[in-house]
Amino acid sequence: MTNWDPALFSAPPLLDEDDRLPPEHKLFALRTLPLGDIRAVGFDMDHTLARYRAPEIDELAFKKSARLLVRDRGYSPWLLEVDYDPAFAVRGLVLDGLRGNLLKLNRERQVVRASHGSRPLTRPELDAAYGRRRLSLAAKGFRNIDTLFEIPESYLYARMVDGFDAGLLDAENYLELFADVRWAIDMAHRNGEMKAEILAHREFFIPRDPQVGLALDRLKREGKKLFLLTNSEWSFTDGVMSHLLDGLDEARPRWRDYFDLVVVSSRKPTFFLETPEAVLLEGQELCFSGGNTGWLESLLEAQGEQILYVGDHIYGDVLRSKKNASWRTLMLVPELERELKLLEAKAADLREMLDLETQRRRALRRASVLLDQWKRNRGRRHVLGPRLSPDAAQALEREAVQLAAEAETLQRKAEAHGQDLDALAQAVEAAFNPVWGPIFRDRDEPTRFADQIRQFACAYTGRVGNLYMYDPHATLYAPVPTLPHERMA
Ligand code: IMP
Ligand code: MG
Repeated sequence: MTNWDPALFSAPPLLDEDDRLPPEHKLFALRTLPLGDIRAVGFDMDHTLARYRAPEIDELAFKKSARLLVRDRGYSPWLLEVDYDPAFAVRGLVLDGLRGNLLKLNRERQVVRASHGSRPLTRPELDAAYGRRRLSLAAKGFRNIDTLFEIPESYLYARMVDGFDAGLLDAENYLELFADVRWAIDMAHRNGEMKAEILAHREFFIPRDPQVGLALDRLKREGKKLFLLTNSEWSFTDGVMSHLLDGLDEARPRWRDYFDLVVVSSRKPTFFLETPEAVLLEGQELCFSGGNTGWLESLLEAQGEQILYVGDHIYGDVLRSKKNASWRTLMLVPELERELKLLEAKAADLREMLDLETQRRRALRRASVLLDQWKRNRGRRHVLGPRLSPDAAQALEREAVQLAAEAETLQRKAEAHGQDLDALAQAVEAAFNPVWGPIFRDRDEPTRFADQIRQFACAYTGRVGNLYMYDPHATLYAPVPTLPHERMA
C-alpha cells in the first residue's frame, strides 16, 4: 500500500545533528553507482515524478473498470456495489487466472501465500494447488502485479472470483474473468475518462513535492542532461508536469525548462526492445512521441552506463533498461516509507524473533547430541549385554533415563520457542498486510519482488526528491557482498 502521509511529505529534508539521513530520505545502493560518470538522467512520470494519492487513485480505477464491465461486458450490477478495499492487494503479487488465485512468491518462485478470490488459502490448500515447485510464470494465465497501476486490478479480479463462486456473476470460468478484468483496466486507462478526472482534480490526486524541483534543478546545474521518458501521451503528461513544476522556480518557470528532451507515448518496454521511429511533436521543441534506445542515446550523446533511469516499474522501467540498454537504474518504491516505518516500530519484536530462533536452533542441536548419546548408550547395553556387571548395567540404565529426559526437555523447549516465534512472526507480518505480510520478504526469505529489485536496480528509494540530498558527482556504494564465511565478527 502506498498510503499518502502528509507528515512525511512536509518533513524538511534536513540532516540530523549527526549528519545521518533519515532512512525515508535515503537512496539504498545495491551496486556501486558513480553519479560522476552519469551524463544523462531520465525520469519516468507516472508513480515516479508524479506520486499519485493512494488509495484514492486505485479506487478511481477500480470503480471505473467495474462500471465498464457492467456496461459493456454484461456483468451483473452487483459489481458496482463492491467497495474498494485498499488494504487487500500489494505490489509483487502474481495473478493465477486459471485458478482464480492471487499468489505471493519467494525468490525461488515458490508460492508462499495465496488467496482464492479474496479468501486466504490455508497451508494445506496452498500445498495441494502448488506444492513446492518453482512456478513457471510464462505459462498461460499468469500476470505479474508489477506496477502500482495494477493494484486495483488484483482486487477487482479477487472480488469477481468471489462473485462468480457465489453465483452472483456469470462467466465461463476464472480465465474469462481474468481476461475481462484486464480489458476493463486497460480500457479505463485508454478511454481518457480516468485521466480527465485525475487532471480535473490534480490538486487532490497529485500532491506536489517541492523537493522534486530542487533535485532536478541540482542535477541540471551540475551538468547532467535530463530527460522525461513516459508511456503517457502528451496531453496528460503536459497536464501532470505543469501541475508539478510550473512556477516553482523563477529561473525555470515552465516544466519543460527542467528537461533537455521529452519522450511521451514511449511504449516501454518495447522502447528498449525494438526500434520504433520517434515522431517530433508539432509545435514542441525537443518533444517526441515513440522512439527507441539507440535513437535516444544519440540525441543525448550518452549511452549505456552513462545514463541513469529513474522509474517505478520493475519490468518496463528497470529490468528492460538494465538488461537491454545497460543503463543504470534507480527504482522508485513508494511503498518503502511505510515499510521502513513498520520495521522501526517492530524493531523490538524483530530482535526477539531472532533471539527465539537462535535459542530454538541451539536447543535442537543440543537435543540431537543428547539423543545420540542415548543411542550409543542403548547400543552398548545391547552389545555388552550379559558381560556387564549388575552395577555397570544399572549405571547405564540410569544414564539412559537421564539422557532421554534431558533431550525431551530440550525438544519441548525448542517446540515452545517455535510456537512463540510463529505467533510473533504472524503478528509482525500482519501489521504490514493482514493477508500478504511485507512486500520484500516472507519470514526469512526475500520475495520475488525483492529479488528482482536486487538483481536489476542499481539503487532504490521511496521518492524522487530524495536525490536532492546527494552530490551529483558522488559515488553511492553498495554494502560489500559477503559469503557466509566472510562475515566479520
Ligand atoms: P509511465 O509510468 O510514466 O511510463 O506511464 C504509465 C502510463 O501507462 C500511464 O499513462 C498509465 O495511465 C498507463 N497505463 C497503466 N496501466 C495501463 C494499462 O493497463 N493499459 C493502458 N495504459 C496503462
Ligand atoms: Mg511509472
